[in-house]
Parts: sequence; structure tokens; C-alpha cells
Amino acid sequence: MAKITVIGSLIMDNVATMERYPEAGESIMGTSINYYPGGKGANQCVAIARLGGDCEMIGMVGNDENGKIFKNLLKEENIKSDNVFVCDKPTGIAQIQINNEGQNRICFIPSSNFEFSFNHIDLIDKIIKETSLVVLQLELRLEIVEEIIKRAHKYGVKILLNPAPAMNIDKEVLKYVDYITPNEFELSSLTNLPVETEPQIIKASQKLLSYGCKNVIATLGSKGAIIANNKITKLIPSYKVKAIDTVGAGDSFNGALAVSIIEGKELEEAVKFANAMGALTVQKSGAIPSLHTRKEVEDFLNGIIN
Ligand code: ADP
Repeated sequence: MAKITVIGSLIMDNVATMERYPEAGESIMGTSINYYPGGKGANQCVAIARLGGDCEMIGMVGNDENGKIFKNLLKEENIKSDNVFVCDKPTGIAQIQINNEGQNRICFIPSSNFEFSFNHIDLIDKIIKETSLVVLQLELRLEIVEEIIKRAHKYGVKILLNPAPAMNIDKEVLKYVDYITPNEFELSSLTNLPVETEPQIIKASQKLLSYGCKNVIATLGSKGAIIANNKITKLIPSYKVKAIDTVGAGDSFNGALAVSIIEGKELEEAVKFANAMGALTVQKSGAIPSLHTRKEVEDFLNGIIN
């Protein structure tokens, strides 16, 4: 049984570039198209695998080419994927349009990901029971994520929830979450509090703790992350790097955090490692192509420390 089980999304990103966006009803010719496997679930699972974590991916793809691409990718990354189910809907897709100013417009269609049902939870019940850490995001149906949290809690399994994208998750369920990793926007949305300044972020993190989450790790982009639990509230600063593309930063951070937690690191140490992984990710384009290996993260940390 894998120690870390990621139950989440597999989404093919279709990235089209164009000089400018078309007006409503207008057809224009774009300049390039590329397809990148992604989705927060798949990204986080690949991050864990590249860091040497023992992990399994669980989710749902379509019976189509994109579904096969995901199956092959997981195999290449040595990720167990017997429970990536296949359904008749197309594999989930994100249509991303980038104009010549680098702005993006994204339309995400969950498709296969939303076919993951309560019956599938029953099928993976034993896996939830026997794993050490369940890693979740909010790109499956909300009620599915909530039920998985309840089951993992019932079995005494630790839960890491990346509450992204922002959703109105049941507060009753949040009390079962061991590690919650909102970015600033998600933190504000979960707490209905402003998060413009560090004191405000701390206040919002404490509100999240008051819902019963055991550890809040609020990610703050280039500033690093604030950790809050019943012993400590502290900013763990990130590393100064030249950011080229921040896509995948949150996913790589979460993957690294999961690996460190399973290795028994203290939260502060775990977040330092996750900050290093995030800092490496933003120096490369794309999500999965920018996920680094264990050795690369350690070399980066040694370079900084020595
Ligand atoms: P998300 O991608 O979910 O919005 P963040 O932007 O907060 O998440 O980034 C997640 C983590 O990635 C940060 O906590 C930090 O460790 C790292 N990170 C993000 N942007 C930068 C940056 N410009 N420089 C260094 N580290 C970064």
C-alpha cells in the first residue's frame, strides 16, 4: 500500500497562444497549440514521485487518447495507477488562451473528474484505510472530497487538503483536516477575512484553526508561507529566485510538503523543503515539466545553506 495517496484531478491543459483574444462571434487565427497533462491531483502526485515519495494516484479519466496519455505518464513516473478509473465522458480539459501580453483566460471542464462517485469511494475504501496520508484538492465534486475526508478521519489516516480552487467546503469537515494549504485568495474565501497584510493573514489562519484544522500552511507566493498550529505561528520565508512562470508552484509545494510530513519532519522543516521545491518550480515553464527531483531540491538547499 502506498504511503501517500493522492485522490484528485487529471486534466489535459490545451494551451493556445494568439496575438489577441477574439471578440464574441469573431474567428481569429492563433499562433500555437500545445497539450500538457495537468490537474492539481496529477501535478501533486508527480511532484511526490519525483521527490522519491511512495505514492498512488486515484482519479478518473475518459476512454480516450488523453486518458491513455495520463496512464502512460503515471507509469513513466513510477506511480501506482490501478485505481485511475476510466469512464465514458472525455478526460477533463482546461482550455487556456494566452495573448501576446502573456495574459491568460482559462475555461476548465471537469468532465471525467466529476464522474468520480460515492461508488468509487467504496471501491477505494481499503486503500484509504491502509495509507498513511491522503492528499486532496477541490477539483473533484465537493461532496466526494468531503466524504473522503470523513472516511480518512474515521480510519485515523492523516489528511492534507489543498483547498484549491476556492470552494465553500463544509466547515464541519474542516475539523478533520490535519494540514490545510490555502493560498491567500483561498484563505480569504474560507474565512471571509481580508488577507492584505501579514497580521491579517495570521488572523485568518487562526480563524481556520478555530474551525478545527490542526495545521494551517498559508502559501504566500514569493513571500513563502505562514504556518499556524496550537504551538507556533510563524512566517517561513521563501528563497529569492527569478520567477519565470508560477504555474504549478502551489502543486509542487503541496507535493513536497506531503513527502516531508511522511518522512516525519517537523512542520517548520517540512515547509522549508516545500518552499525550496516551489522556488525551483517558478524558474521553469509549465507545471509537470517544472517539477524537480529530490536531488535537485537538495542541491538547491545545500547551495543556499553552504
Ligand atoms: P498557488 O500557486 O497555489 O497560488 P503560491 O503562489 O502561494 O501558490 O505559491 C506556492 C509556493 O511556491 C509559495 O509558498 C512559495 O514557496 C513558492 N513560490 C511561489 N512563487 C514564488 C516566487 N516568486 N519565488 C519563490 N518562491 C515562490
